[in-house]
Formats: sequence, structure tokens, C-alpha cells
Amino acid sequence: MTETTPNHTQTVKGWAARDSSGKITPFVFKRRRNGAEDVTIKIFYCGMCHTDLHNARNDWGLTTYPVVPGHEITGVIINVGNNVTEFKLGDKVGVGCLAASCLKCEMCQANEENYCDDIQLTYGGIYWDGSITYGGYSTMIVSHKRFVVKMPENLPLDAAAPLLCAGITMFSPMKQNGMLDQPGKRLGIVGLGGLGHIGVKLGKAFGLHVTVISTSSSKEDEARRRLGADDFIISTNIDQMEAARKSLDFIIDTVSAQHPLGPLLELLKVGGTMVLVGVAEKPLPLPSFPLLFGRRKVVGSLIGGMKETQEMMDLCGKHNITCDIETVKPEGINEAMERLAKNDVRYRFVIDIASSSSNGVL
Ligand code: NAP
Ligand code: ZN
Repeated sequence: MTETTPNHTQTVKGWAARDSSGKITPFVFKRRRNGAEDVTIKIFYCGMCHTDLHNARNDWGLTTYPVVPGHEITGVIINVGNNVTEFKLGDKVGVGCLAASCLKCEMCQANEENYCDDIQLTYGGIYWDGSITYGGYSTMIVSHKRFVVKMPENLPLDAAAPLLCAGITMFSPMKQNGMLDQPGKRLGIVGLGGLGHIGVKLGKAFGLHVTVISTSSSKEDEARRRLGADDFIISTNIDQMEAARKSLDFIIDTVSAQHPLGPLLELLKVGGTMVLVGVAEKPLPLPSFPLLFGRRKVVGSLIGGMKETQEMMDLCGKHNITCDIETVKPEGINEAMERLAKNDVRYRFVIDIASSSSNGVL
């Protein structure tokens, strides 16, 4: 455990869930000393991903408590190891979902650390020194340089924080499935939440025709007017779904709960691809007929590698893409979690961590 690891000498203020109630309370813990390959980051902001909620409440049965969630972290470097030339004091940086990987396997060599068998996540992972990782609902973090992203100067650190998970989770399947260089192709985004809304913005930046498929009619106006969606379909409206049958080349499904895949697959053209990125509590039934009769594909995607994350961040800088956020103070985390569970967020809560501490270290 972190508390008993000898070189864990830096005391940090954080916020943790202790049991499956998911209630978040203050939690003081230790982080490792800054190593030769590490940077220490004073955290300014941390986005609240639905994955944080799944983990805080142990939806997937995988949580080790206490868990300090948070993997959409932005801040400023306050310490740099001797072997770090890529970053300097004062740099604006971000940390996403990855704390470590083996660095040696085929996937790590190919800059796809996210598919390394030995990835350790930013929270609830086991770092190379055996300690449990704690995430960004905290005042500072020590990160190995490989897992740190440079933030573009023009992007604000609060509205850009969710790009570290939501952004890369949408960008990677677009890139891997050939959506970046086929303007005019038709992309459907299922679920207009944190991931979905950034998917709309990215899709439009790459010239795609973007259709939102949502359960919330209240989101239509702003999806079209503010986010730039071309079409909006209510997934429970049979007429609208029928009218859109076989109209899409790609779908990215971001839904965080049980929902039927069959009607969504029918929206794909013959040979179309659905990418699942949302993670429901239980496996989703996959009906055979819409797959067989349309030679359709269902694939998955997990965040992205670090090189790809930097590429996404730089592109967001170039196109001035940020997230639509609602900022909360650390005292408001539980209320924000409740609202996230009720689908009452437009479109990402971001915790103003800096409001709780002057220097990041207690
Ligand atoms: P979010 O902000 O809560 O958005 C999820 C959206 O799904 C909601 O806004 C809602 O959109 C829709 N939805 C919710 N409940 C639904 C239901 N019962 N039936 C149909 N639609 C429903 O969540 P998020 O942060 O974007 O995360 C989405 C999912 O992706 C989570 O499961 C998360 O763990 C997962 N995730 C995966 C990765 C990865 O690497 N693959 C990375 C990050 C997150 P509408 O109101 O428009 O229907
Ligand atoms: Zn996330």
C-alpha cells in the first residue's frame, strides 16, 4: 500500500470513495518522491468521467477502496526529474487514464500502450513500485514522463481537461476506422454525454456528417445549434429510427447503461461499423440478424496511446476544440456525481481542484 512504501513521502490532499455507496470524502495520502523520469504536477482541474462514477460505486465489481478517481487531469509542472528533457518547470500539462505500461511489448513499442497487457490505470492500478495508484481528485500527482501530455497554449486548462479521456476515447476510433480523411461520410454518435458531445465536435472538425442518436429530446436544439450536429434522432422514436435505416457509415456508441443494440445496428449501411466505447454494467446482447443481413461489424476501443493522445490534443489546439463544462468545487463532487448518474450534465463536470489548495502539496 502507498502508505507503507518508503519513498512515498509527499503528502497529498485528495477525495476518495470508501465503499460502494460511492460517497466521496476527503482523503489524505502519500505519493512517491519525484523520480529521475518523473514530473510532479500541481493539479488545477480534473474532469468527472462516467467511469469515475462506475468505479466509485463498484458497478463493474473491480474497485479496490479507497479509490481516488480522476483521469482527466490538467495542471502545471512543479518538479522535474534529472532524466526529463521533454518538460520543464511551469509547463502546462495533462494526464489521462494511464499511469504505466510494460514499455517493452509489441503494443508499447508501437505506441499503443493502451493495449499493453500490463497497463496500470491512473487510479486503482498497481504502479511499478507496487503502490496502488490514486487519481486526479487530488491536489498533485507524480507521473512518469511517458504518460504526460503537453497542453496547447490556446486551450484553457478547465475546458480542455476532459480531452484527456473523453477526447481521446472518441478520437482514437475515428482515426483507427478511417474517419479522419473521409469527409462527407456519415457518423452516428449514440449518447450525448461527456464522450458524445466531444465526438460531435471532432466529427464536424473532420468534415463528417454527424447524427446524434439520443434518449433526450431536450438536447436536440443545442446539439444542432451549439455543437453543430447535422441530424438528431430519438432512439425510442420508431418512425425516426425507421427513416434513418441504413443511412450511416459508422456509429460510436457511448452509452453507459443497458440498451438494445439491434435497432442501432439497423442504422448502419451494409458493411458499416459500430464502435462500442461505453461500458454497461452487464454484457449487451448482440443480435445476429442485423449483423448478418448487413455484413456489419461491431468493434471496441479503449482510450488511445500516448502519441495518439498528443496528436489529438494538438489537433484540438489547432481547431480550438474544448469541452462544454460545468465547473464544481471539491465540496460539490457528490452532488455532481448524483447529477451525472441522472444524466443531468451539459456535458462534463470539471472539478476546480486549485480552489482547494495553494501549492498542491500539504
Ligand atoms: P455520460 O456523460 O454519462 O454520457 C452517457 C450518455 O449515454 C448520456 O448522456 C445519455 O445520452 C446516454 N444514456 C445514459 N443512460 C442511458 C440509457 N439507460 N439508455 C440509453 N442511453 C443512455 O458518460 P461518459 O462520461 O460520456 O461515458 C460514457 C461511457 O463510456 C461510460 O460507460 C464510461 O465508463 C465509458 N468510457 C469508456 C472509455 C473507453 O476507453 N472505451 C473511456 C471513457 C469512458 P442521451 O441523453 O443523449 O441519451
Ligand atoms: Zn474516462
